[in-house]
Amino acid sequence: MEKLKATEKEPLIGIGLPICDMVIPTVYYNHLAVIAAWSTQFKIELIGIPGMKITRARETITRMGMSRGCTHLLFIDSDHILPSNMLTLLMQNQDAAMVSGLIHKKIYPYEQVAFVLDKDGSLQDALIPENVVVEVDSCAMGCTLINLEKLKLLNRPYFTNGHFRHDINLCLKFKNELGDRILVDSRIHIGHVGMREIVYPKNIDILRKRHDETVVPTTSVRPLGEVSDITASPMTEKDVDADIKELGVNKPVICLSFDDCCLSQYKYGRGLKAYDIVGTFFINPSMIGLADHLNIAQLRMMHDEWNHIIANHMWEHVGAPSLSVEETIESIKKTDTWLLDNKFEEGCGLFALPYGSVGGRWNEYMPEIIKNTKLIRDVSNYDGVHYNGDNSIDYNNRLYAFGDDTDVMFKILDKIKNDHIYLFYFHNDQKTFDPEFERLLEKLDELRTAGKIEIKSIADLVQATA
Ligand SMILES: [Zn+2]
Repeated sequence: MEKLKATEKEPLIGIGLPICDMVIPTVYYNHLAVIAAWSTQFKIELIGIPGMKITRARETITRMGMSRGCTHLLFIDSDHILPSNMLTLLMQNQDAAMVSGLIHKKIYPYEQVAFVLDKDGSLQDALIPENVVVEVDSCAMGCTLINLEKLKLLNRPYFTNGHFRHDINLCLKFKNELGDRILVDSRIHIGHVGMREIVYPKNIDILRKRHDETVVPTTSVRPLGEVSDITASPMTEKDVDADIKELGVNKPVICLSFDDCCLSQYKYGRGLKAYDIVGTFFINPSMIGLADHLNIAQLRMMHDEWNHIIANHMWEHVGAPSLSVEETIESIKKTDTWLLDNKFEEGCGLFALPYGSVGGRWNEYMPEIIKNTKLIRDVSNYDGVHYNGDNSIDYNNRLYAFGDDTDVMFKILDKIKNDHIYLFYFHNDQKTFDPEFERLLEKLDELRTAGKIEIKSIADLVQATA
């Protein structure tokens, strides 16, 4: 294959700015400052796309960069804080297919975003040391310089969601089709804006320690629109202590939910009632009355007599590949209307993602789904992320979800922490046999009577955080 030298041309660097959410002031000022500094040193072009889904935004920005004659494209995400020498350092490796700064995930356990393939073809964390430029199989995309002369050698579209995410797929195409290099430059430390702090490579140990040792009151979670107190240094233990004192320590919350309108859940609903526990049942109206599924009379009993919440799991039980974003919203709204028509109004707007965000591949649909729901229950994030209607609550690692397996639930109940929410959910009774379920209810009742936990429905969570 012909070796290309990008240096034959004077570099023209497109600065790609995909933005689909609000940009916080700290990021805004940082981006203005660093881009102003870069413009004195390099020929740059700003290329921004607001409000587009990320894969499409990256594709469109890339093609705009190519049509404007850019030799390179630097993608900057709107939750990244950048050092001003970043572009100079990245351009030292301008002949590589891609080179990224060092960034960590913004939620616990804050892993580096860089991967290598193991011998079985699975991605493993690359575990990059400090102050080196190393080759990896896949890097981050939000602080990353792409060599467009090399990218042009690949088939379009450049960004696709295939076996992996769009960023990983592009890296693998560069490696497999061009035999080219993907680099991470760990001299470049990127700040990743999280809910309560900016996650920097140098702060990881402190943040992990704080997570493991401290109790963070749920009620002190800052809405996303009010993160003006975000600083580069993490909050001290003293700050957290003061918050706890001020707000009072909340008991651990246990929340039980049931999906897919399985017939077995009728007896669970009755069992819950016997212990005066309110459950949340996420249903698909299209499945009501089918074999092995709940019928309307049973749902009436569960709601009217046993006081459970009947909530939205979409009209049909499908994942994102089966529906457009418009069809998804229509399906959610149709289900909400059905809930209202049947006087299950408490569950209207409470939405559980079929298969979770990962299994159902909902990630790119989330901005629209968030706009059309009050609260989203997502079971497939590693530690259970929880959104509400205006995207203002993110429990991050204070909400843990455990599905179906009562053994795990018993283990969890021995280790519960204040100010954490534990979501136990049940799809069916594959692992949860009746005597075990009964035992679980007894245990919950015992802990509640001893004042050690609170048991809430998902509707209670919305009220508590509204
Ligand atoms: Zn389901």
